[in-house]
Amino acid sequence: MARVAVVTGGTRGIGASIAKALKGAGYAVAVNYAGNEEAANAFRDETGIAVYKWDVGSYEACKSGLAAVEADLGPVDILVNNAGITRDAMFHKMTPDQWNAVINTNLNGLFNMTHPVWTGMRDRKFGRIINISSINGQKGQAGQANYSAAKAGDIGFTKALAQEGARAGITVNVVCPGYIGTEMVRAIDEKVLAERILPLIPVGRLGEPEEIARCVLFLASDEAGFITGATLSANGGQYLA
Ligand code: NDP
Repeated sequence: MARVAVVTGGTRGIGASIAKALKGAGYAVAVNYAGNEEAANAFRDETGIAVYKWDVGSYEACKSGLAAVEADLGPVDILVNNAGITRDAMFHKMTPDQWNAVINTNLNGLFNMTHPVWTGMRDRKFGRIINISSINGQKGQAGQANYSAAKAGDIGFTKALAQEGARAGITVNVVCPGYIGTEMVRAIDEKVLAERILPLIPVGRLGEPEEIARCVLFLASDEAGFITGATLSANGGQYLA
């Protein structure tokens, strides 16, 4: 039987590439999304992958969403916590709503999604949790105190959980992408991108979502069973952690 993989925020951007790569490698894949129906329908039509709508910021929604996935596909073996948002502002202008929204999706979402599948993975003595953090969680970024805090939290979460899961056959790792050419990055002003971001990337280009998908595919595989608690940077040499 194919292993079951769930990718949060899997209908667009990096998550969509991850889901396609996992499907291509033979996993039974389900993706979740927040509310962009157009993107979700287009993704489902293109890939045939099952899509489920719920908010990773709600524990109850994650529990019932995951129960629906498990009823359809079977127990979750691989969880990719990819869903993320930005609400950028310099700190003196950042509102509590901007802070809370980003912490809730990008950090609390990891608890909300991982907790409901953890006991099952422990019981079955196998699991792969792969969290998608960010270069900006490693180095911090002006205008992103909320995002940097959440993404740094994702790395700490990964390291703690890796220690708890090791004896139960569960690996927990985190991928830190640099700037990848998705809508999240294309939303950045073109001039800022060309003059202030690209010059910082030694390889001289944005990353491709497929390049992050390949990192996830490896970490999900049996071959990566000795790797846990690791932070895998994929950033074109921009930040050497
Ligand atoms: P996109 O904005 O392209 O896609 C985000 C996905 O997450 C969408 O499917 C969206 O659903 C979903 N999503 C957002 N909020 C929620 C929520 N509360 N519940 C469920 N699903 C949600 O993002 P990217 O592909 O660019 O980013 C993916 C991950 O990679 C994020 O964690 C991001 O922080 C991280 N990252 C991205 C980088 C980049 O350069 N792009 C760099 C470093 C890290 P819907 O379509 O319904 O809104």
